[in-house]
Amino acid sequence: MSNSELPGAPELAYRAGALSLEQVPVARIAEQVGTPFYAYSSAYLERRYRAFVAAFQNKAMLCFAVKANSNVAVLRHLGRLGAGADLVSEGELRRALAAGIPASRLIFSGIGKTETELRAALAADLHQINVESLPELTLLSDVAHRMGKTARVAIRVNPDVDANTHAKISTGKSENKFGIDLPHAADAFRRAKQLPGIDPVGVAVHIGSQITSLAPFEAAFTKVVDLLKTVRGEGVALKRLDLGGGLGIRYRDENPPSIEDYAAMVTRVTRGLDVELAFEQGRWIAGNAGILAARVLYVKEGATRRFVILDAAMNDLVRPALYDAWHEIVPVTAPGANATLAPVDVVGPVCETGDMFASERPLPPLAQGELVAFLSAGAYGAIMSSGYNSRLMVPEVLVHGAEFSVVRPRPTYDEMLAQERVPPWLL
Ligand SMILES: *Cc1c(COP(=O)(O)O)cnc(C)c1O
Repeated sequence: MSNSELPGAPELAYRAGALSLEQVPVARIAEQVGTPFYAYSSAYLERRYRAFVAAFQNKAMLCFAVKANSNVAVLRHLGRLGAGADLVSEGELRRALAAGIPASRLIFSGIGKTETELRAALAADLHQINVESLPELTLLSDVAHRMGKTARVAIRVNPDVDANTHAKISTGKSENKFGIDLPHAADAFRRAKQLPGIDPVGVAVHIGSQITSLAPFEAAFTKVVDLLKTVRGEGVALKRLDLGGGLGIRYRDENPPSIEDYAAMVTRVTRGLDVELAFEQGRWIAGNAGILAARVLYVKEGATRRFVILDAAMNDLVRPALYDAWHEIVPVTAPGANATLAPVDVVGPVCETGDMFASERPLPPLAQGELVAFLSAGAYGAIMSSGYNSRLMVPEVLVHGAEFSVVRPRPTYDEMLAQERVPPWLL
C-alpha cells in the first residue's frame, strides 16, 4: 500500500520507512508508552474540521459527536477551532465543559436522558436539547418549569429511511428506537408549543453511522424540510435544522461522498429556508485521525492457519468483534518492496474466539516483537475499550507536529485494584 492510499494520509505516512503520524514515528511513541496504545493526529482533526465548515462557507455549526472520541484533549483541540459538541450523557456534558467548549455550542441528544441529566443540561443552559419522545418532552417541561428555565428544544424525528449501513449502527428506520415517527412529529411540535418551559426551535434527524452514499441523507433531509415547513405553517417559528452526523469514511475500499458534494446536496435541499444548520459528525472528523498500535507477541503455525497473536485485544478495539468491521493492519516498519503477502489470522490474547481482528488477511511477513498499526481507529476505538480480562485500559496519545503527549495514561495495576472494594463482611 502506498502512502497516498493509507486512510489518514497525508498526516499518516511512511517517512523514511517508518510509519509516522505527522513528524512522529509510531515506533518512538511505542518506546515511551509501551503497547498497545491509540495515537491521534491533531493536524488531521484540524484539517477535517476546517474542511467541513468551509464546505458550508463557515455558516453551519459542527457539533462533534463526543461519543466517537471523548478524550478531553481531543475535545479541547476541536473546541478551540470553533467546534461545538453533540452529547448523549451527563458524562459527555462534563467532558465538553471540562474541555472548555462553551454551553452555547452544546447539543444534548439521546433517547434516554434521566431527570438528573435534563436538570444538568438546563443548569448549564445548553444551546439545544434534542427530544426523542413525548414523555421526555413532558418531563423536560416539568423540570424546566420548576427550575424557572426555558429549554430550547429540537424534536428528533425518525424519517423511516434506510441508511444502507450495518444494522447495529442504523437509526433512522421506523423499527429503530430513535426519534419521533414523522407522522406524529407535527403533533409533538403542537404539544411543545403549549408546554411551559419549552421553546421549540428546530427539527433534528440522525439516520445512522458510516453512511457512504448521499441518497439516504437526501431522502431524510427532504422529509425533515417538509416537516419544518408544515410546522412553520402552523405558527411555530422554527429556526434551526440539526441534520445529525453519520457521514462515512474509508476503512478499506469504501468510496464515501466528498464533503463538497454533501454540502451541495444539503444546500440544495434547504435552499430558501432561512434556517441555522447544525451537524453532529463524529466518525468523519476523527475516524481516520488515529491508529491503534500493537506488538506481535507470537506467530503460531496452526494446523490450517497462521496466527499472528498481538498484545492488543477486543477489549482495546471492539469494532471487528461487534460489527465485523474491517481495519487496515499495516507493519510500523515499511515492508521491503518485494515482500510477499500471505494470509494470516490476526488475533488478540483474550479468551474468546471473537477476539479476532482479521481472518485470512493477506499481510507481509510479521516477526515476533514487530509493531503493527490498525488504521482508521480514531473514532469508536478507545472510547469503546474496556478492562475485560483485567487488561489495563489502553492509553491515548495526541500528536502535534514533531511532539506527542499522553492524553490518557495507561493505569497501573494498583490503580485498577483501587477501584474496587471488599465488603466489611469479607474482611
Ligand atoms: C452517534 C451519533 C452521531 C455521530 O455519528 P457519526 O457516524 O460518528 O457521525 C451524531 N448524532 C447522534 C444523535 C448520534 O447518536
